[in-house]
Order: sequence, then C-alpha cells, then structure tokens
Amino acid sequence: MDNFSYFCNTKIEMGLGKAEELPDLLKSLEIGPSILVVSDPGVVRAGIVQPILERLQATGYRTVLFDALSPNPRDTECLAGAKLFVEQRLEAVVAIGGGSAMDTGKAIALLGPNGGTPLEYVEGIRKYVNIAPIVCVPTTAGTGSEVTRSSVITESTTHRKLTLKHAALRPLLAVLDPKLTFTVPKAITAATGVDALVHAIEGYSCKVTNPISQALGARSMRTIVSALPTAFRDGDNEKARFAMLESSMLAGLCFGSSDVAAVHCLAEALGGLYDTPHGVANSVFLPYVLQFNAQAEQAIHAEMARHMGFATNLDSDEQATQKLIAGVRDFTRQLEIPKLRELPGVRREDFARIAEMALTNNSTPSNVRPISSDDYLQIIEQAYDDV
Ligand code: NAD
Repeated sequence: MDNFSYFCNTKIEMGLGKAEELPDLLKSLEIGPSILVVSDPGVVRAGIVQPILERLQATGYRTVLFDALSPNPRDTECLAGAKLFVEQRLEAVVAIGGGSAMDTGKAIALLGPNGGTPLEYVEGIRKYVNIAPIVCVPTTAGTGSEVTRSSVITESTTHRKLTLKHAALRPLLAVLDPKLTFTVPKAITAATGVDALVHAIEGYSCKVTNPISQALGARSMRTIVSALPTAFRDGDNEKARFAMLESSMLAGLCFGSSDVAAVHCLAEALGGLYDTPHGVANSVFLPYVLQFNAQAEQAIHAEMARHMGFATNLDSDEQATQKLIAGVRDFTRQLEIPKLRELPGVRREDFARIAEMALTNNSTPSNVRPISSDDYLQIIEQAYDDV
C-alpha cells in the first residue's frame, strides 16, 4: 500500500456536436472575451476552425487566430504566439487541434503573461504563475493534452523535446467533440491512437502509478484495442471515433497524474531528432520495451494483457506476457504503422545519441524496470532489425 495523490481541475465536456456550445461553455466559466485561438494549418485546412471562430465572434468574443506552428512545435513558434498574445492584449487561449496545437496553446498562455523561454521554466529559473486561462478542443484522439499538466516543446537549437510540467498548465476546460476527429487521415488516426494506448500502458505500469491512474488506464487500453481498428478502417464511424476520443482523454488522466516511461523517452528523442510523428515513434519501440520490462515485472504485464483481451485468466502470467507482446505487435501491424527502419532520416550512426537523449529524459526514472543507456541501445537495435 503506497500513499498517492491525484489532482485534475479540468472541466470536461464531451458529446457529438459539443464544440458548437463553446461560447456558452466559455461564458459559464467567465473566460474571455478577448481570445487567442491557437491551431495549425492542417486543422484550419480541414475546415474545423472557421465555424468555431464565426460562432465565437457572433456571440461577442474578440478572436485572433495564431496557426503558425508545426507538428512537434518549436520554442520559437511559442515565442511568436506569445508576442501576438501580448500585442493584441488578449486574455485567454483556446487551442483547437492535436497535441501540437494544444501544447503550443499552453506554452503561449504561460509565456505571454510572464515572458521568458520554455527552457527557463523547465530549468526552474522562472515560475509557473499568472498563466492565462487555457481551453483545449482536441481534434486528434491521441495525446490527452486537453487534461494533462504538460506541454511538450522542441528546442530549435538542440532538437531536444522539453516538457513544461506544472499543475497550473492543466486546461480549465476541455471540450471533446468526436465530430472534429472525422477528418483525421488514416495514418494519423493509427499513430495518435497508439500514442493513447502507450499512455494507458505506461501510466498504468510505471513506477509512480496509483490506483486512480490504473483504473483509468485499464478502461482506456481495453477500449482502444477494440475501437482503434474500426476508427482506422472507417473514419466516419461515430461510435469508434467517440470511443477513441474518450479513451485518449482517459489515458491522459491516467498518465497525467503518474508518468510515462521508456517508450516515450525513446519516442521523444526520435521526434526531436527526425521530426517523426509522435505516435509513430511510440509504436516502433512499444513491443521491445514491453519485452524488456516484462522480463523483470511479469505480473503487471500479464494484468495488462488481460485488460486488453490478449490473454484470459486461464493463461499463466508467463503465457499472458508472451501474448501481450505478440498481440501488441499484430495490433500495430494491422494499423500499417511503419517500422523504425522505414522512417525518414533514421541512421544507425545516431543510435547512441538517441539512447543518451532517452536516458536523460525526466521520465526514465519512472520506467517500471531500471533502464541504462546500453539497454536503450539494445532496444533501438532490436526495433531497427525488426523486418
Ligand atoms: P499533431 O497535433 O502534430 O497533428 C498531426 C497532424 O494531424 C497535423 O498535421 C495536423 O494538422 C493534423 N490534424 C490534426 N487534427 C486533424 C483533423 N481533425 N483533421 C485533419 N487533420 C488533422 O499530432 P498529435 O499526435 O495530436 O500531437 C503530437 C504532439 O503532442 C507531439 O509534439 C507530442 O510530443 C505532444 N504530446 C503532448 C502530450 C501532453 O500531455 N501535452 C502528450 C503526448 C504527446
């Protein structure tokens, strides 16, 4: 029995068409009326942002759009957004998009009122105070950033992914409308869905997990395994899209008050170095990290195999663990996610650097089994040699 604490101050509103209620929801929390809407060019092109802007303007909100950001958003982009926030005298941030737009929105809400760079907050030089109200409207079912205390920003000069982490970065309001995810292309549906699965797995099994995270993670991993293949094959399937958006939020609540672990540490190193989409980077390492961790921590991996339906109570822990690794491999293959060897830019010469970057990630100590630079290197090589 370990002590634990769990905290989440985000009001969560979910439903088909829920985004149409955004003005009323903002009003009920007295957020605004001058708002920076943060999104990205892909989400704007998908036709998601304009109707929301029009609805906000028609109900008396002053909106300014900032969409100059890339996937795996850069510190320089956050600084540009923060400058606009100050120049336009805005009061709150509404981020509409995937993890990239939501994380940029969170960073702008911090940097706008306070100044400084993301690194200065990560290093503790500046304090997480005076943060502008943050509202998130996710358009991918993946990161769960709409309910987490983190914002992952890439430092342009070093390619390192920095994690700004503080309870005050949790959005005040998360508006989950599965309709906004219908336009997510197949490959992004697959990658973001696996990201959510990894959040549930790592939040459930990492060293700093707690009973609430485990309850949320168990439900999330079970639902993702059944809903993601349908959402992938049939993007207009309301039920599957709803289940995925709900599960990615639950997975965010799961890891958001525990942690992620080795899969994410490797994925963030890969994303920082080669701009690999975050979910793809998670997927290529997942079976190998599970294999490494399960050697030392069989019982918890057997539990997860049963939650995901890869094994039953009739299987021994050893059998269940084997079924977990095989099941996860088949699952990601079915979703047509590329392998490490197939990803643009990946070179064997960089493996030692990736292992070092993963080792220095703040979440490495949370991995359920102690992991060294050599262990990371071996996992990278196994993933690369997978054919
Ligand atoms: P993303 O936000 O980078 O989006 C991927 C692509 O999908 C973009 O080109 C975007 O334009 C497009 N897109 C998004 N929604 C769409 C829609 N509805 N229709 C059509 N296109 C759409 O991808 P992501 O996986 O959601 O976010 C990844 C980022 O989130 C990474 O930087 C990662 O490190 C970070 N992350 C943050 C947390 C957290 O807790 N803050 C957790 C995990 C990951």
